[in-house]
Amino acid sequence: MGHNYRDFAYDVIVVGSGAGGGMAAHTLTAAGHRVLMLEAGRDYDPVAETPMFQMNHEAPLRGAGTPDKDFGFYDATVDGGWSVPGEPYTTAPGSEFLWWRSRMLGGRTNHWGRFSLRFSEHDFKGYSRDGLGADWPMNYDDLAPWYDRTEALVGVCGNNPGLDDMPDSSPGVLQPAPPPRVPELLISAAAKKLGIPTAPMRRAVLTRPLDNRQACFYATPCGRGCSIGAAFQTTTSLLPMALATGRMKIITDAMVCSVSVDVNGRLNSVVFIDRHSRRKVRLSARVVVLAASACETARILLNSRTNTFPAGVANSSGQVGRNLMDSTGANISGHVPALEGRPRYNEDGHTANHLFIPWWGHQAQARGELNFPRGYHFELGGGFSPPGMGIRGSDSGYGRSLKQRIQQKYGAGVGLALRGEMLPNANSYMEIDERVKDQWGIPVVKFHWRWSAHELNQVAHGLKTARQIIETMGGQVGMPDQSAEAAIKKGGEIIHEVGTTRMGIDHRESVTNQWGQTWDVENLFVMDGGVFASNPHKNCTLTLMTLAMRNADWLARAMHRRTL
Ligand SMILES: Cc1cc2nc3c(=O)[nH]c(=O)nc-3n(C[C@H](O)[C@H](O)[C@H](O)COP(=O)(O)OP(=O)(O)OC[C@H]3O[C@@H](n4cnc5c(N)ncnc54)[C@H](O)[C@@H]3O)c2cc1C
Ligand code: SF4
Repeated sequence: MGHNYRDFAYDVIVVGSGAGGGMAAHTLTAAGHRVLMLEAGRDYDPVAETPMFQMNHEAPLRGAGTPDKDFGFYDATVDGGWSVPGEPYTTAPGSEFLWWRSRMLGGRTNHWGRFSLRFSEHDFKGYSRDGLGADWPMNYDDLAPWYDRTEALVGVCGNNPGLDDMPDSSPGVLQPAPPPRVPELLISAAAKKLGIPTAPMRRAVLTRPLDNRQACFYATPCGRGCSIGAAFQTTTSLLPMALATGRMKIITDAMVCSVSVDVNGRLNSVVFIDRHSRRKVRLSARVVVLAASACETARILLNSRTNTFPAGVANSSGQVGRNLMDSTGANISGHVPALEGRPRYNEDGHTANHLFIPWWGHQAQARGELNFPRGYHFELGGGFSPPGMGIRGSDSGYGRSLKQRIQQKYGAGVGLALRGEMLPNANSYMEIDERVKDQWGIPVVKFHWRWSAHELNQVAHGLKTARQIIETMGGQVGMPDQSAEAAIKKGGEIIHEVGTTRMGIDHRESVTNQWGQTWDVENLFVMDGGVFASNPHKNCTLTLMTLAMRNADWLARAMHRRTL
């Protein structure tokens, strides 16, 4: 890490050190290539800096979120969140969009939820089935071996439940799933009565040691970062592994603003702002991989206007910034008397849900019984979590009887968080806001956003189903009936934004081919969620890393053959 890079000879510049950039750099260095990584955020040491062992009561406001630390005082995001000081973004009138950025080495992998579900053939070919959105330019079978390799390297726990929504991993790839918690078993039993299956959540958390990383000891919130490396983040795995080859150099505090092409249309340089000196630095490059996150990568391309590419480099299709998708999201919670007053014991587990509800409606959709085309899943919440801020809920009063009521109810709340597929639509996209520049002088992103009836009908179905599940448990839903319009989260709020440089088979309708290579500039690649052709309900990052591994391997081979 540092700024002494002039003496380092490199083959590839990788922009961004998060999920996509980390995987690209690991794959390229393992194949013998030399990588210079440019990262906008500051250096970050997950061992020295994580507050994983602190207790909420030691923090101001008992650890509650503030505009500086949106997800709580101890969240691992050291620079950023819903806002980054000096780096605004704008939204068009009538649009609501939230953009989470982590300006730090490792990006958002330091604190992501680590839910890691494979897409299936069904997910890759939605357009062929119902004429909506776009197909991916490859099949599930092309990606299956790469999913195996990614899961084995990253370390994913879970099982193969044999459900149509969950393709199997090869034998021996997954780490054992931790046992379900009591509230999850109760939800599972209720869901079963309604014909809805549950399965162990697949999560990028080690339940067995791997390489230099230790197994989870089930005691500390993963969102604060994991110094023992059990919860996957690039700062404890892919980046140290790539550095250990001696073939990678990382420059932190390097805010890339544009790329440029020569008269032959080949990319020849990358420009970044050194955040310390505030000076512009131009570096020449043989090959560039952009993995700055979907919207930041599209921003770099749109801000790179040349004579050959007046609308932005690699944007002859006009698709850069278009097809912006997030996951749908909605929460329902309730109180379950059957869980009241149960014996106290440690139910922490690996922080997040051990069981979840995969999408069970493929057959019903095929029969035309549902009024929305794409599926969703439920992430489950419940259990004895460490007490946080004050008293929540409807209890009022004081003294001993209030304490007794709260103790009685402790651990009896459950929650179902819906995450669903969104289809791309013409009203949801990003562009450059020519009126506003950030503190580095770089024009910022402007978001346009609208959900369509596909997503609203899906969320309405989810709200009804979640209510049925809680009521089947004998519980009471703790919130009034809400319309889908009121319940659906804002665009970007689920932090699965993808699609802004989508891949495809036709250069007129997509930005890259199936290898993440831009159609227009052969030595320019995208290896973040920008390349997604659709956004299935399954959290995007496992597929993002799988594509980065596969496509960096393809790139490495092309460079060895010197076809690039
Ligand atoms: C709280 C939270 C929970 C989440 N939970 C899940 C989950 O359970 N499952 C899941 O699949 N996904 C989850 N996600 C999403 C997941 O974190 C992202 O999909 C993933 O990190 C995206 O990888 P990326 O490489 O595209 O971007 P990032 O991981 O954000 O990395 C991009 C990097 O590029 C750097 N960068 C940005 N702009 C520039 C620039 N101009 N120049 C140089 N560098 C730049 C950034 O600083 C950053 O380090 C979650 C995210 C959050 C915040
Ligand atoms: S619960 Fe496990 S995976 Fe999560 S931070 Fe703690 S040790 Fe790491």
